[in-house]
Amino acid sequence: MNGSRLDDFLALSRAHPWELAPFSESLPDGGQVQVWDTGVLCIEPAMPGNRDLVLSCGIHGNETAPIELCERLLNAILSGRLTCRQRLLFIFGNPAAMNLGVREVEENLNRLFSGAHARGERRNHERTRAARLEQYVSRFFRAREGAERLHYDLHTAIRPSAYEKFAIYPFTHGAPYSRRQLAFLSSAGVDTILLAHGPTTTFSYFSAHGFGAHAFTVELGKVMPFGQNDARRFAAMEQNLEQLIGDPDWQPPAFDLDQIRVFRVCQEIIKQSEQFCFHFSDGVANFSAFPAGTRLAEDGEQQWFAREPEEAVVFPNAGVTEGQRAALMVAATTLTADMLV
Ligand SMILES: [Zn+2]
Repeated sequence: MNGSRLDDFLALSRAHPWELAPFSESLPDGGQVQVWDTGVLCIEPAMPGNRDLVLSCGIHGNETAPIELCERLLNAILSGRLTCRQRLLFIFGNPAAMNLGVREVEENLNRLFSGAHARGERRNHERTRAARLEQYVSRFFRAREGAERLHYDLHTAIRPSAYEKFAIYPFTHGAPYSRRQLAFLSSAGVDTILLAHGPTTTFSYFSAHGFGAHAFTVELGKVMPFGQNDARRFAAMEQNLEQLIGDPDWQPPAFDLDQIRVFRVCQEIIKQSEQFCFHFSDGVANFSAFPAGTRLAEDGEQQWFAREPEEAVVFPNAGVTEGQRAALMVAATTLTADMLV
């Protein structure tokens, strides 16, 4: 699509970081590419399969590997190398934060969904963006009934991880977990699953709870600057997504439950004040485990201790604002056949 405004959609989005007027173009195969806003692009194939797929990245602006991965997939479709056979919504979440090379400009976008953007007095660009992204996902999924709805929200973590690639399975309110989705993640190299324990204000929970989508927050490795990611480390996910986009009949390979590691949340550590501190080192990797009784953190009078024999820490961040989660504590668990569908 030479000479098109879509030649470099990410650059166009970054040049208009908070807003971009909608436009659309045709694909050579008869499909439509609709730009809905900055970083938001919907592909309507001429003959779509039965899956409606949302691929989001850059919800945190400095998480470059997923942004580069989505850009490669988009360019493969626009150039005709990959035929898009599913309705597909690309979301490059926070172009302004990408421009600054930071996780967020004013507020963590991935804590602003399911209406959280409208709670409290604060108003900022990220809150407006969260409200709009909710509308776009709603418009995309509500365009038809009966399709399988999927949303993979791709991230990289700030710190190293004992298990490099992991996914958070949003709280299902008691509904069974999807064996096919676990097979998809496992064959994409994501072999560690963290089962959320309650409703949250993340993007993936918004799609799962609001639209019955199979939705996941997927952590693909560690944050690196643009251009310094090794695409080979993400090749399995990229290939799986290409299959999903290009072949309506594709299924992930057969899968056995012992191919994945599963954790459940056992406690959340919420920062209360500026006195908050952890009792482990700043550089600790995600999924580092502590024996029961280990003092984990304190905040004035309050202290947190490991309660389970092997309690592991995920996403520790003492720098969050007061009232926000400073860490998740998790323990290994097993999924049994009766918990799956
Ligand atoms: Zn992230």
